[in-house]
Amino acid sequence: MMNPNHQLADALRDVTASVQQAIADGYRSRMIDADDLVEVLLAIADRLDPPVPDEVAAEFACPECGERHIDRLVHEADDLVRCSSCGITFDPAAR
Ligand SMILES: [Zn+2]
Repeated sequence: MMNPNHQLADALRDVTASVQQAIADGYRSRMIDADDLVEVLLAIADRLDPPVPDEVAAEFACPECGERHIDRLVHEADDLVRCSSCGITFDPAAR
């Protein structure tokens, strides 16, 4: 059975390695302030639980009205998407 802390440890190692690389490359100072700490903690949280975007990429937006919110673009049969904002049905792969 996998150690339940394994995923957390991996996220900590990955983010730490990124910070060390940024220091080595001169992008980040060895001095740490509150902003740096917040950034590192949020990076760890994002690794463990990636934020779910609530908008689709621009190329998958409704071709009629430009709607991008994921809750307003409803997947239908045959890979078609219906836009709840303007009512059209379109094939997001057709462009
Ligand atoms: Zn639309």
